[in-house]
Amino acid sequence: MACPFCHREATTPIAFTWWGGVLGPKLLHHVKCTDCGKGYNGSTQRPNTRAIGVYIGVVLAAAVAIGILFAQR
Ligand SMILES: [Zn+2]
Repeated sequence: MACPFCHREATTPIAFTWWGGVLGPKLLHHVKCTDCGKGYNGSTQRPNTRAIGVYIGVVLAAAVAIGILFAQR
């Protein structure tokens, strides 16, 4: 698998990220290029930028929904 940014084949799996905690990188197959240090999707070999945005949006929406649910009780 090659890095979409620098096209080299050096990757490290990521176990934890600031945006997705432990679950996020697993769901998005997030890996990191050891050469340029950028993260991307290891199964599609494309940048995860959009997927991360969607993931954060879903997590925030879920957090707000849960907050509203608890505030109504
Ligand atoms: Zn790279």
